[in-house]
Amino acid sequence: MITAYHRPRTLKEALSLLARPNTYPLGGGTLLNRPSLEQFAVVDLQALGLNKIHKNGNNLEIGATATLQALLDSQHIPPALQETIRLETTYNLRQVATVAGTLVSADGRSPFVTAMLALDASCTVFSNQYSVIILGDLLPYRTETLHGKLITKIEISLNVNLSYESVARTPADRPIVCAALAQWPAGRTRLVIGGWGKSPTLALDGNEASGVEAAARNAAQDAADEWGSAEYRSEVAGVLAKRCQDRLNENKTSYLIR
Ligand SMILES: Cc1cc2nc3c(=O)[nH]c(=O)nc-3n(C[C@H](O)[C@H](O)[C@H](O)COP(=O)(O)OP(=O)(O)OC[C@H]3O[C@@H](n4cnc5c(N)ncnc54)[C@H](O)[C@@H]3O)c2cc1C
Repeated sequence: MITAYHRPRTLKEALSLLARPNTYPLGGGTLLNRPSLEQFAVVDLQALGLNKIHKNGNNLEIGATATLQALLDSQHIPPALQETIRLETTYNLRQVATVAGTLVSADGRSPFVTAMLALDASCTVFSNQYSVIILGDLLPYRTETLHGKLITKIEISLNVNLSYESVARTPADRPIVCAALAQWPAGRTRLVIGGWGKSPTLALDGNEASGVEAAARNAAQDAADEWGSAEYRSEVAGVLAKRCQDRLNENKTSYLIR
C-alpha cells in the first residue's frame, strides 16, 4: 500500500527522496498501485520531463517515462517492435505503463522485453552521475542495481532488422514461447527466446545468423514450468527462430526488389 506520495521537479530532489527507506520510483503505477501488504512511499517521475522520444541519427532515445502507447505511436520503431508492444498489454494499460517501469517489472513472458533485449537496448541510469547499463546486464540484477537510482533513458539502434514470433493459447495472450531476432547490416545477429522465468534468455549474439535454430533449442532446454515442458519449449523455440530468420530474409528480398 502506498503510504506517502512525492512529486519532485528535479532529478536531484527525486534521488534524495529515493534514498529514504521503502521508497520506490513511480512510473505509470500500474504495478505499484496493485494491492500489497508492504507499506511504501512513491516518487512520481511525471514532472521530470523524462517522457520524450527522440531520434538521434540511427538511434532512438526513449525517455524512461514515455508510455508504451507513445512508443507504439512513434513513427520510428520497426513493425516487429510495434507488434510486441501491442502484445505486451491492453490499449488502456499502454496509455499508463511506462517503458522503464515495464523493463523493470516484466518477467520472461514479456514480448516487449524479449524484443528490446534482442535489439541490445541500453539504459541510462542516474544516481549521483549518469551511467549506461546494457539491458542484458541489468535484467538479472534489476532490484540490486536500481536501488536508490533511476532509469532516465533507454536507447536502441534503428539500423537493425527485427522479427518476432510467438506461440500462445490465444493470439493476444502472453507467449508460452517467443523469439526475437535482430540483425545489424554488418551481420551481427542477436536471438532472444522468452516465455518463461524471470526474464527472457539471450540465445545467440554472433557475427552471422547460422545456427539460430540450435541456439534457440539450447536456450530453452531447461525451460519447464506449469505452462509447458522443456522438451516442448525447446522444439518450438527452434521452429520460431527459423520463422524469424525466414521473415528477415523475406524483408531483405522485398527491399532488394523495390
Ligand atoms: C490489470 C493489470 C494486468 C497486468 N498484467 C501484467 C502481466 O500480465 N505481466 C506483467 O509483467 N505485468 C503485468 N502488469 C504489471 C504492469 O502493467 C507492467 O509491469 C507495467 O508495464 C509497469 O509499468 P509502470 O510504468 O506502470 O510501472 P510502475 O508500476 O510505476 O513501476 C513498476 C516498477 O518499476 C520501477 N520503476 C518505474 N520507473 C522506473 C525508473 N524510471 N527507474 C527505475 N525504476 C523504475 C518501480 O519502482 C516499480 O518497481 C499488469 C498490471 C495491471 C494493472
